[in-house]
Amino acid sequence: MAKKIFFHSLNELITNAGVYKKAGVGVQERDLGIIENGALLWDSAKGILWLGKTKDAPKALVRGSKQIDCRGHFLSPALTDCHTHLVFAGSRHEEFASRVAGLSYQEISAKGGGIRSTVMATRKASEKELFNVALERIAVMKSHGVGVLEIKSGYGLDWVTERKQLRVIQQLRKKSDLRIFSTFLGAHAFPPEAITEKQRNAYVDTVVNEMLPAVRREKLADACDVFFDDGYFTEDQARRILQAAIFQKLHIKLHADELANTGGAKLAAEMSALSADHLLKADVDGISRMAKNGVVAVLLPGTAFYLGLKYPDVAMMRKQGVCFALATDYNPGSSPTTNLPFMMSLGCLQMGMTLPEAFAAATYGGANALGLHDSEGALLIGKKPKIALFNQPSYKALISQFAGVGSCRLLL
Ligand SMILES: [Zn+2]
Repeated sequence: MAKKIFFHSLNELITNAGVYKKAGVGVQERDLGIIENGALLWDSAKGILWLGKTKDAPKALVRGSKQIDCRGHFLSPALTDCHTHLVFAGSRHEEFASRVAGLSYQEISAKGGGIRSTVMATRKASEKELFNVALERIAVMKSHGVGVLEIKSGYGLDWVTERKQLRVIQQLRKKSDLRIFSTFLGAHAFPPEAITEKQRNAYVDTVVNEMLPAVRREKLADACDVFFDDGYFTEDQARRILQAAIFQKLHIKLHADELANTGGAKLAAEMSALSADHLLKADVDGISRMAKNGVVAVLLPGTAFYLGLKYPDVAMMRKQGVCFALATDYNPGSSPTTNLPFMMSLGCLQMGMTLPEAFAAATYGGANALGLHDSEGALLIGKKPKIALFNQPSYKALISQFAGVGSCRLLL
């Protein structure tokens, strides 16, 4: 039977109504649609029945519902972590020690570490083992208020393991109460076995001719992503894989302009990707094309923080009118964190985002980067987005904590 919950006396009810209207561009504080002493009536079947000031709640509609006194709390659309690699096995703590001793990420990678070491561990792990560790990670994310989550494959680099990862994502989708979006990232790196140019091109052939058709046939993913960067996939290879993905009716996304400006932002705009992610080295031309084509800029400050890199140029991007998203990029090598609120803190402290920009980026922006902006990331009557109630008086309190503990009290 459907149940109704009436959240009342909220210190802040954040609707993101203005953010939704502006498609996440040029966000100001008023766009968060904050209602003080707010209330929301939620129905497990129909979603949001009513929202407004507590004193204006229609008595007849509220009758029979479970009432939750939310004094000192805020309620908002659940956070969306739109870029993670959370299904993996193994640990990279030895690399961390090497890095602290002075080696760069590229040097560690050249010594056989980096993505490759996780690939080897993930190939060995069983589906059950991968599922269990992933479920624990998701529980931590949930405690931070994440209700919508994207997970990529990409630690197999052979079909058996890519499929294993994607199947785990499908099981997580069934077993967890988060809304999970699955992305095939067979082109995360070249497999360790592919050393020559010819072998690398043969791997691209396999992704295009065998893996992508199987992904569609078995309904394993919603999108396809490619690591297009210096030392990884070339523009021609990325284009070929993304075209094949579009042919298989998948959304497309791109790891773009992280290590060097290779034209990733431009390619994402040209091919109408949902998002281009990282963008540490993106230029004005690429970003303005993304803004014109509605491609979301997914910023992942965790990697810049962890690897000691320069952060993306938010001021330039804001000027071009692009929609921002913030995500953890959770992975064992370059951003081992499940803490999305910390990414908001970094966005404000290190990249010059405003607090409303950061909050919109971690809610609506993330949903937009997954093509879910009509159902998630804003509280609108008649819709059924994931919502989160926080043990905090304000979204500003959530962002002002430094890598704080999970403060989500309830996720629906
Ligand atoms: Zn990534």
